[in-house]
Amino acid sequence: MPPALSDTIVALSTPSGAGAIAVIRLSGPAAISLTDEVFRGKKLADQPGHTLHYGTIRDAERLLDEVVVSLFRGPHSYTREDVIEISTHGSDYIVRELLALLVRRGARLAEPGEFTKRAFLHGALDLAQAEAVADLIAADSALQHRVALNQMRGGFSRELKDLRQRLIDFAALLELELDFGEEDVEFADRTGLQRLLIEVQTLVQRLLRSFELGNVIKNGVTTVIAGRPNAGKSTLLNALLNEERAIVSAIPGTTRDFIEDEVSLEGIKFRFVDTAGLRETTDTVEAMGVERTRQRVQQAAVVLYLFDLATATPAEVAADVAALPLPAGAHLLLVGNKLDEAPASAVAAMQAAHPALLLLSAANHDGLDALRERLLATVRREGLDAGAATIVTNLRHARSLEVALEALGAVQSGLHHGLGTELVASDLRRALGALGEITGDISTDDLLGSIFTRFCIGK
Ligand code: GDP
Repeated sequence: MPPALSDTIVALSTPSGAGAIAVIRLSGPAAISLTDEVFRGKKLADQPGHTLHYGTIRDAERLLDEVVVSLFRGPHSYTREDVIEISTHGSDYIVRELLALLVRRGARLAEPGEFTKRAFLHGALDLAQAEAVADLIAADSALQHRVALNQMRGGFSRELKDLRQRLIDFAALLELELDFGEEDVEFADRTGLQRLLIEVQTLVQRLLRSFELGNVIKNGVTTVIAGRPNAGKSTLLNALLNEERAIVSAIPGTTRDFIEDEVSLEGIKFRFVDTAGLRETTDTVEAMGVERTRQRVQQAAVVLYLFDLATATPAEVAADVAALPLPAGAHLLLVGNKLDEAPASAVAAMQAAHPALLLLSAANHDGLDALRERLLATVRREGLDAGAATIVTNLRHARSLEVALEALGAVQSGLHHGLGTELVASDLRRALGALGEITGDISTDDLLGSIFTRFCIGK
């Protein structure tokens, strides 16, 4: 066992603050004996795993609390080590005292994510699964939860492992050729490799494409509401958020900066950004807002361009939309507001010029359902409802997939141009390395450090 795992770690595993119960978790070789030193009840060392024990915690003769101890014997535990969970009354004071007591007896306070890191080091979880634990804890929408749970249960890992195994088999054949280099033999079937490469590339590409979606699931669909001052952007945002967060005012240009909030529509998070007007301005404060608007629009997945049906002309709308710095792949929704005020002829002319136009009256909450439907449709078109398909949500994984894809491309062109086996094999190893980093088949201390320190303590 590596030296770092010979000690016993302890941490509060529930949120701090007053609560009905708090759970203090220990993991490591001395977890049971250490608890026995402070626990009055049955002798835990004599008890089987997966059992609960009622008793008291004493610091010398001082009674600290009545507790329930859960006993897990490795390898049948979260970390695969001996694990003890002490459920105390949820008081900060008790927790502090108990942690101090256990540390005095020889436990070490756990670092963030250290329990999960141990689970990984002992092979209970691979790296992608361990990361999904953090995602699952952070999930606050139905989709986020589903994707994290699938990843934690190994869905993504299985897909990658299978892919990697097939490449490994092939790499082995190539390496064999290298060993017999002098004799100029070809063990590896080149057309077979080409076919395999295309298959693997297609899969990696699909996973990479899913990251756009994964990002949406994790961080929400950034939806920028753009439009001229007084179009009703703040009113619309308020209506959508159902609360008076944005400043609504009849003076043009008062929404100087952007205001953000999230709304969950059918389990999908939308992050709405209300912006300062996009019109040219001489007011410097407002000009800064306009510049930031441009930046926000560039980050948007959906740009909702809102205008006043009563005052805008079709040509104006067309010109404004053409001037929007719309990022590639972003969806544009054209929305005419103040339907209640606009003359029917103006509305008809606008509809004729812009057939995809959506009509509403933000002030009267009229037409909002159709808008929500349209918003959801933009995301669904991207296959969010793909159901069982694996979705990449982690930036680290996406980066590794990019490296793998690039290396696979190099393998392919190497084969195509009849490059030496050695070069092809080295590119193939690079692709394997990148894929292996995702699940942690290949990992470094730095990588593990950067992943697990982002966890909360006690996890
Ligand atoms: P922004 O500058 O684009 O954020 O516009 P605001 O949301 O501040 O709205 C400007 C004005 O238009 C306010 O007086 C709103 O009450 C009014 N307004 C917004 N939506 C509607 C609507 O659907 N109908 C009517 N009649 N007035 C609206």
